[in-house]
Amino acid sequence: MNWMERVKRNVFPVSNEKYNIRKALDEWEYEGSMYDVEIAEEICELCDQPNIRYQFEIVNVFNNNTLLIGSECITRFKISVIDQSGKKMSFEEAKKKVKKDKSRLVTEAKEKSVLNTLVALAAKDNEFNIENFIKYYKERKAFTPNQLALLIWRLERARIDFKKSHFKLTIKRNREKEQLLRLEDWKLNRIWDCLSNSQKQFIIENKPRSPF
Ligand SMILES: [Zn+2]
Repeated sequence: MNWMERVKRNVFPVSNEKYNIRKALDEWEYEGSMYDVEIAEEICELCDQPNIRYQFEIVNVFNNNTLLIGSECITRFKISVIDQSGKKMSFEEAKKKVKKDKSRLVTEAKEKSVLNTLVALAAKDNEFNIENFIKYYKERKAFTPNQLALLIWRLERARIDFKKSHFKLTIKRNREKEQLLRLEDWKLNRIWDCLSNSQKQFIIENKPRSPF
């Protein structure tokens, strides 16, 4: 069965229109409801694509049926996207909103994984002062250079499974920039994969005798 046949099989039973697929798809709207199911094992209820983690809910305006679909399908099938005032967005605006909503879910998921990692570390490492780190992270969604170097060291020592790229560095304040440039090379190596490209560039341009 090709993908359009799958879409028809999924959409006609829950739409008022039963013959014209474009008309049937036009009965549906995305109003901003989206969910992170945390494990990528859902199926797109529109096209049957597997391994969906971020589900976007579309609603049928005539019968209130709902379908949970992948964000790409909203754009691919030109599903109407409704803004906060209830107005239908243009295709270009809609595309942007869907992309932004998806990236918000992804960011929130990464933040949650960081907090879970801190909790896992606290369970293994009695000397780790988790409250300070959690408080700081919730406020700034990132860590200072010294915090990060200490954190990554403790995580590796405790053999906690974690993703370095989820742990972000902040150097918005001058003292944080200075702190970063003062880090020993071995500490810098340890946090290198946490850095953004512009932060790496900042080090390359400003750190005397950079090892990179
Ligand atoms: Zn799909």
